[in-house]
Amino acid sequence: MIKDQVLCLRPWKGIYVTLNGDVTFCCYLPRPEAVIGNLARSTMEQVWNSEKAARIRFEMLTKRLPDVCGGCPLYNYASSEEREQVSGGAADKASGK
Ligand code: SF4
Repeated sequence: MIKDQVLCLRPWKGIYVTLNGDVTFCCYLPRPEAVIGNLARSTMEQVWNSEKAARIRFEMLTKRLPDVCGGCPLYNYASSEEREQVSGGAADKASGK
């Protein structure tokens, strides 16, 4: 099951849209390099299946935190309960906590 194989399930479950239509997987990723597409220029399906979205998911599947997630407060400051809420428990299993 994918939940047991990745650090964070947001790239499969989450979507965050800014006022200008930029899409990221979560609200911790408001920086340009994390944008997987823009709904003013593309459909949701195109954004969700974009090359950048696939690359971030692939990095998660290798149990490595993607570079775009480097400043994620979930991994830097969050309690294990908060990690559980966002990752569905996958984060702590992967990191051995
Ligand atoms: S690791 Fe953090 S920044 Fe990356 S998708 Fe998950 S919650 Fe968002």
